[in-house]
Amino acid sequence: MENQETKKILKKMNQFVVIGLGRFGKSVATTLTELGKEVLVIDTNKDAVNQMEGMVSGAVVADATGTDVLHSLGVQNFDCAIVCIGKDLQASILTTLICKDLGVNYVVAKAKNEQIKKVLERIGADMVVFPEVYMGKKVANMLINPSMNEILNLTDNFKIVEVPVPDSWQNKTIIELDVRKKYKVSIIFVRRENSVVTIEPETTFLKGDVLIAAGESNKLEVISNMTSEVIDASHCLKDALEDK
Ligand code: ATP
Repeated sequence: MENQETKKILKKMNQFVVIGLGRFGKSVATTLTELGKEVLVIDTNKDAVNQMEGMVSGAVVADATGTDVLHSLGVQNFDCAIVCIGKDLQASILTTLICKDLGVNYVVAKAKNEQIKKVLERIGADMVVFPEVYMGKKVANMLINPSMNEILNLTDNFKIVEVPVPDSWQNKTIIELDVRKKYKVSIIFVRRENSVVTIEPETTFLKGDVLIAAGESNKLEVISNMTSEVIDASHCLKDALEDK
């Protein structure tokens, strides 16, 4: 699918069916609901479905590997299906295939590795995601550098990160510090308590500020080495490391 076409499709999507309510599926379903979308969840596990009842538009106990089952639930009328089955590879492949065969416009599938990704793409998945691989990288990076949280890896060497304001920058303005010239990084925003502050030359950095900064990896590391604070990524670590 062309990028332009994909973007148009993604922007118009309103009705989602989430199949499989493990940690990933639950998180996708609740986030889509919070974003105001209509979400139907399906799982073979009654307890998992009961937990989601009332939180999403619809919750059904069903085996998604049956074409008739998915058809009778009207899955073909949804804009997007997200197949969040990990362990049972056969179920994941069959469900993805059935969703495509039923004519769901956009099917996202979760994979555990590159080989499974290839299979899922070959049978028609429009997008394949690796939540464990992504989270594993994020956690490892945070453990190695707890003062920096990577938001975006633009190239191998150029990133956008969150980093607590260096101690020596507190109560100084960006112009006084001459950040761009001296440190060769751009501060895009400052996260202050629960809001985001746009940067003006006269913006004064305060204790507790978290900088959203862009630049080369080694330059960003210099900044992160200047702070005594760590990024509060406990929510991330908790989700990634906690057992079910
Ligand atoms: P997590 O997102 O927690 O990492 P996981 O990748 O380990 O999950 P599983 O636990 O295998 O994935 O499956 C996630 C959910 O998918 C489970 O709640 C399971 O009951 C559900 N599931 C598995 N097979 C089917 C199926 N055929 N139809 C519907 N739901 C299914």
